[in-house]
Amino acid sequence: MSKKLLLKDAHIEGIRYFETYRKQGGYGAAEKALKMTPDEILEEVKASGLRGRGGAGFPTGMKWSFLAKPEGVPRHLVVNADESEPGTFKDRYLMEFLPHLLIEGMLISSYCLGSNTSYIYIRGEYSWIPDILEEAIEEAKAAGFLGKNILGTGFDLEIYVQRGGGAYICGEETALLESLEGKRGNPRLKPPFPAVKGLWERPTVVNNVESIAAIVPIMDITGAEYAKIGVGRSTGTKLISACGNINKPGVYEIDMTITVEEFIYSEEYCGGIPNGKKLKACIPGGSSVPIVPANLLLKTINGEPRYMNYESLADGGFATGTMMGSGGFIVLDEDQCIVEHTMTLARFYNHESCGQCTPCREGTGWMYKILKKIENGQGKIEDIDLLWDIQRKIEGNTICPLGDAAAWPVAAAIRHFRDEFEWHIKNPELSQTQNYGLANY
Ligand code: NAD
Ligand code: SF4
Repeated sequence: MSKKLLLKDAHIEGIRYFETYRKQGGYGAAEKALKMTPDEILEEVKASGLRGRGGAGFPTGMKWSFLAKPEGVPRHLVVNADESEPGTFKDRYLMEFLPHLLIEGMLISSYCLGSNTSYIYIRGEYSWIPDILEEAIEEAKAAGFLGKNILGTGFDLEIYVQRGGGAYICGEETALLESLEGKRGNPRLKPPFPAVKGLWERPTVVNNVESIAAIVPIMDITGAEYAKIGVGRSTGTKLISACGNINKPGVYEIDMTITVEEFIYSEEYCGGIPNGKKLKACIPGGSSVPIVPANLLLKTINGEPRYMNYESLADGGFATGTMMGSGGFIVLDEDQCIVEHTMTLARFYNHESCGQCTPCREGTGWMYKILKKIENGQGKIEDIDLLWDIQRKIEGNTICPLGDAAAWPVAAAIRHFRDEFEWHIKNPELSQTQNYGLANY
């Protein structure tokens, strides 16, 4: 059984409220941290090996150490709760059921970073969660864990919740900052990174909800102990939101030592595929990461089992591997159509492109149109190479990663399922009514 750090108390009735959370030892990590110096906390976070849980996996301690500290300029912590990656819903779970874990993590992090005003930017579609967070903020304030002179340390902290307007692009950290400043959420060119020039041009750390929540167990058990959980550079625990063709969709906390096969088939996690169907493919890290066919998902090309961690999922690079990403684990059974699936994603990225960069603005729409043609039985064999060419011209040529995120699913689908694209084109009359199934995979 995987070790639980974040969700260990999630089953306790009333854990959403301060009183119950406190009875379970809540805010003990904050009391401990506020007796330490900010540099001591930073060392613990670095020692933990925690990597950003939003998708990029950038080392959190390193990001915090990049924070510029010019004299007299306020600094900010901004929590990215704009969880919009298709298949990803683990931050929603944390905020809905364990809001005080996030608030406590923010208190420790803000103290370490020197932020007296911190923000939670939450996606508009999570319409019922801001009230939960705001209630938790009020409770924490009433108990002396937020506001002025927290626990007599002289440290002040206010936390504000900002609702987004429902645009996927506002989850990109610089677009989020633009939106938080009241502007249209267009991504900025990086560098400068937010750690140097962020919110209102002030040094800002933008971290995912789960990353900030993980600061609490790190302070509880120490960074060194946290680093002992997991394997290699995949330290600690990771939340996975599992969905698609599985018996038990939901949010699971894993310690990154289990195999993909165990995660899909064991009763502790996904509980297998409904109706005894066979596994066709999986997207293990949210829609932006490459899709992998079953044979490469359960084993690497060297025949080693594939594990649920950053390194093993990426083993073999994009040719045979994929990414841990945001932990949005989407399972496709033998009945799913890869062309239709890829078309749906292309439509999504086209709709969500902010339109600033030509390759993304034009390329995402072009890919969608071609995929729709193929799905509707009107495609030509040359369309497959055209799709490949377009995605290559988008990747790496845009301001923000949405361009790459639109290109990778198309590239991976063609790389691994080219036969299925050809079958659609050669059998136009069957294209929408029948399924290529598992042939050749
Ligand atoms: P990134 O690799 O550009 O950056 C990661 C983080 O490290 C950023 O905060 C960045 O500011 C910081 N950073 C990197 N280099 C730095 C430096 N030299 N100095 C200071 N800071 C530095 O990736 P990203 O754009 O933040 O994220 C992309 C990922 O987001 C994708 O891989 C995807 O998996 C994920 N994603 C998640 C969701 C979701 O809902 N959770 C939605 C869309 C995409
Ligand atoms: Fe906008 Fe797409 Fe360019 Fe990102 S890559 S800035 S979403 S046009």
